Order: sequence, then C-alpha cells, then structure tokens
Amino acid sequence: MTDKNMTDTQEKLVIRHIGRILSGKLEAPLLDGDCVIAIDGRISDIGYETDMNTDNASTTIDANDTWLAPGLIDSHVHPVIGDYTPRQQQINWIDSCLHGGVTTMISAGEVHLPGRPKDIVGLKAMAIASQRWYENFRPSGVKMHAGAPVLEEGMEEQDFKDLSDAGVKLLGEVGLGSVKAGETAAQMVKWARKYGIQSTIHTGGPSIPGSGLIDKDIVLEADADIIGHINGGHTALPDDQIMCLCESCTRGIEIVHNGNERAGLLAMRTAFEIDQSERVILGTDSPAGSGVQPLGILRMIALLSSLGNVPAEIAFCFATGNTARMRELDSGIIEPGKSADFIILDQAQHSPGADMLESIQQGNLPGIGMSVIDGKVTSHRSRNTPPAARLPRVC
Ligand SMILES: [Zn+2]
Repeated sequence: MTDKNMTDTQEKLVIRHIGRILSGKLEAPLLDGDCVIAIDGRISDIGYETDMNTDNASTTIDANDTWLAPGLIDSHVHPVIGDYTPRQQQINWIDSCLHGGVTTMISAGEVHLPGRPKDIVGLKAMAIASQRWYENFRPSGVKMHAGAPVLEEGMEEQDFKDLSDAGVKLLGEVGLGSVKAGETAAQMVKWARKYGIQSTIHTGGPSIPGSGLIDKDIVLEADADIIGHINGGHTALPDDQIMCLCESCTRGIEIVHNGNERAGLLAMRTAFEIDQSERVILGTDSPAGSGVQPLGILRMIALLSSLGNVPAEIAFCFATGNTARMRELDSGIIEPGKSADFIILDQAQHSPGADMLESIQQGNLPGIGMSVIDGKVTSHRSRNTPPAARLPRVC
C-alpha cells in the first residue's frame, strides 16, 4: 500500500526488526521477512523492510529480532459474562489467557451460567444475549465468539432459523443438553448447518454429574462440524474409537488441554498417519472443573511438539491457521487481508535449545512479549509466561 492510498484517519502499524515469522499455515509455516505492516487492523504487507513503505506509521513496534506469530485461537471455552467465570469464581481469566497468547476464543456453550434456562424460548434468548454482549464487549481486546445454545429436546427447524436470523453462529457442545441421541442430534446439526450455524459435539465420557457418554457412533451419526475434545473432556473414549473417528469422517479433530493428554497425542498421530493434519485444532475446554489455563494453548503446543515429535512451527498451526480455516475466521494466518492479530514472542530466558522452536520441541514454553489485536497493542510483557529472552518495544 502506498501513501497516496492512505487518508488521515487510517491507522498504520509497522512491526520491524522481526527475527522470524510463523505464518499459521501448515503448507508454509515459516515466512521470509523482517517486517509486517497493517492498515486499519488488517495486514497489508509482509516482507523485508528495505523493500517496504514504513512511512507515516501511527504505531511502530521494534520486535528486537524476536518471533512474530498469529494470535492463538482457543477453539473451546465456556465463558459466561464479561471477564468473569462463575465456574471457579475467577475474574480476569480471559485477560490472563491473553497473556498466554490467546487473541480469539470460541464458545462451546455458556453452560456455567447459574440458572441457565433449558426451555426453548429461554435458551434462545440467552444465546442471543450472549452473542450480543461479547460482540459489544471484548475483554482486554480478546475476540470472544459466543452465544452458543445447548440443544434441548423439542427444538424445531424454525428455532435454528430464528437463532441464525438473530446473529447466532455457533451451537454449544451437542450432548450437554437433553439431546444425546444420534438421530435427533443429526437432524438438529443439519438444521444448524442449513442456517449457517457451526456445530461442535461433546466427545467421550460425562464431564460433570448430569452429562452423559457420547461415543463414536453418536459422534459419527450427529456429524457436527467439530469433534469436540476428541481426547475427552475429561474422560476419553477407548483408543480404537478415537482412531475410528479420525479415519471415518473429515470433521475437525479438536484436542483440548483439559482432556486426556495421551489420547490427544493418539488423535494427532492418527491425523498425520491419514495425512489430514489440517484437521487438528486446539482448545482448553476451560473454565471447567480443571480451572482456567492461561497458558493452556501454549502448553498444548509444547506437549504435542515435544512428546508427539512435531516441529514446533507445525504445532503453532494447530492453534492458529488450522482453527481459523475450520472455523471460518479471518485471523490465525499471517497474510495480506487477514486481521492484524499477532503475538510477539521469544525463547524463554535460560531455556535450552538453539532457538525458540528448538526450546519448544524440548517441551518448554516460550515467553510472550506483546500481543496485538486488530492492529492495536493489547498487552506488553506477559505476566504469566516465563520471561522472554528478548522483548519487543513500541517505539
Ligand atoms: Zn464437553
């Protein structure tokens, strides 16, 4: 973009002196370049500063030879309202996750609301209200896609049309409400899809008293867009069922922090064996009984990379570009036109390994130095990760 295309009101962000760029794209996880420019919250140019027009920047960040990556996406959270969760009585849990590199979250149902309505008009009203309050209020800047109704028996096609017309774009985890049978779930998932609403299904044993087992036959019959926590939330299905789910459909393979870690590694390995690693996406499934995990997505990247023998730059794609593509988001990938949602990070101080990727492949977390959402700086040095060896700064 040239200066003559800029008007006085445009916001221009220049990030210079980048060491390496993680793209979020499996097919090319590392990009050449030392500079990224965003105009009005969207990436406009990526390359070498000597070839780029960095004049008239509203904000310039000196990355200090560290790494730039897309902001991480948590594909599976259970928010309720604002930056508060009644589940563990915690405030500012979303801000804490931003300090763990997460810039986008996707609700799998606002199930922890005390007194959550289960009648159809009530659950629709709550989904619409949740969608609105997170659209109108981003905690610490984090993009929260919420308003995900939990399916109950008796819902009809018109209900899905009403939800869609009102702006609802997600279903809560299928199986958390009274709809647990494959046939009913399959019909409702179809109605949701018809009206542009994405679906996720709970997979595995019951998560809390009152929820039930969802085995591979129900998951396959329901055919939701995402096989939610294929590694259980908390209890995983037997190994043969996990492998069968990967092999028998093309839906998203979601691995969560609050599940069974061994089963998560199995699901990821199976995806690679069938050459479908683009289906692997990551979530925390928090807040939940296990609490909230500010570093949950980073921990999943380090776990899958180190114990699963996957290059760290590929593991980053699970939490960025893969999720963005599966979820049809305009973030998660560093390329022109996408949202300027970034993290700037580096190897943790005193961590082993020649560089950040090597230290992650050895099981260590990186240090987050800054986050940027829609081209605006949203946090500086993380208060939650280990300290980064080098830090970026706003010039
Ligand atoms: Zn679940």
